[in-house]
Amino acid sequence: MNILTKFDEFGFAAPILRALTAVGYTSPTPIQAKAIPTILAGRDLLGIAQTGTGKTAAFALPILHLLTQQPRQAPRGGCRVLVLSPTRELASQIADSFRAFGQGLGLRVAVVFGGVAHGPQLKALASGVDVLVATPGRLIDHIGSGAALLRSTEFLVLDEVDQMLDLGFIKPLRRIVGQLPKLRQNLFFSATMPKEISNLAGELLNDPVSVSVAPAATTAERVRQQVLLVDAPDKREVLIGLFADEVMERTIVFTRTKHGADKVARHLDGAGIAAAAIHGNKSQSQRERSLAAFRAGRVRVLVATDIAARGIDIAGVTHVVNFELPEVAENYVHRIGRTARAGAEGTAISLCAGEERDLLRNIERVTRLRIETIDRRAQAGAAAKPHPVEEAPAQRRAARPGAKPDARPAKERKRDHAVAADGKAMPRLAFMNPRGPASPAKANRRDGEPLARKVVGG
Ligand code: AMP
Repeated sequence: MNILTKFDEFGFAAPILRALTAVGYTSPTPIQAKAIPTILAGRDLLGIAQTGTGKTAAFALPILHLLTQQPRQAPRGGCRVLVLSPTRELASQIADSFRAFGQGLGLRVAVVFGGVAHGPQLKALASGVDVLVATPGRLIDHIGSGAALLRSTEFLVLDEVDQMLDLGFIKPLRRIVGQLPKLRQNLFFSATMPKEISNLAGELLNDPVSVSVAPAATTAERVRQQVLLVDAPDKREVLIGLFADEVMERTIVFTRTKHGADKVARHLDGAGIAAAAIHGNKSQSQRERSLAAFRAGRVRVLVATDIAARGIDIAGVTHVVNFELPEVAENYVHRIGRTARAGAEGTAISLCAGEERDLLRNIERVTRLRIETIDRRAQAGAAAKPHPVEEAPAQRRAARPGAKPDARPAKERKRDHAVAADGKAMPRLAFMNPRGPASPAKANRRDGEPLARKVVGG
């Protein structure tokens, strides 16, 4: 399959491209690159992907484009596109995405879910909508009362099918599908594909193209991970401080923008830490020189953007630092997968500012890991303030109000601290401790209990 790397290569209608610029998307995520051409070609799709991979845009963008290609009055009492989602929250998010990507197309989008008054939903349905996003239970109510007529639906999207089945929606789902015309395009998404779900897919889909993106958890679990909560203006100083520890031998630092990559590389160089930046604005020969210098160990740090780092394979990367958290959670998994390659161990440290906390939560959902978090905000030279729940044990002793003073010998206490660039003591991260956990699996656990957990809710 020819994987496209820019949205303007899909041939989307101009208003959709403008909307993409407005929301700030430039390159498709892997599920988008794989799914969009299939959907545009009119095929049914079986997508195996989790939330956080960009799957909403993967179906919303091509559907919006196809709607504009064949303009039609929205059918009274019904819709052209029906999206079923397990939860209200997800339904609202999906509707918001259709509205955002469809701004300028003049389409009507409505959402129908339980727990709220029927009135406005009935009104929206009565005149007909282009896109209807619904949870199965409430839609069944509207079908039962004759308010929803789905005979003219052209597209059916089933999102998070595994969750819909977990929530007991199999019967409503079948009833709803029974109301639809036979001739329609079907898009079916699920994070997992046990037998029951693949049977259902076999029943509902017509010669589907299957696309899947790697389950995020598997890579992430092999890497030791830690998040430092910092104030955005302190990030550069904190970054420099990390390199005081010589275990950070060969490190890739990720930034969100090309400009940011240049700035960070200059800043590191200025602090005496040899760094090179690679990104789309550099010539091929500049990139090759930087990569060669990094491979040979002449520069200790490679500063890269997500796209520039795609496809480069460098052995022996000890650390990945996320100077900024990625917008797309799946990119987090790609980034940290640059270390711990070929069975080696690796460490990922993410600097997270206040405005990035939602991105962090999304990453934790996708990786199904609770990432150890240390609060490094506004300490002005004081000992680090550990995260109230997830601090490392040594740091916990020092910081709890009313805690007993650390009774360990001075030598042992000292081991918990590294020295920052400005000479101030800063806490050693748990995994930097030479006596720290021997394996990433252990590092991601606390008190014998795995931090990884199953994600529920959607
Ligand atoms: P989803 O998996 O659809 O819930 O998307 C996860 C997050 O990724 C959402 O916050 C989206 O806004 C964001 N996102 C999706 N696709 C892209 C893209 N191509 N570029 C940047 N952000 C994206």
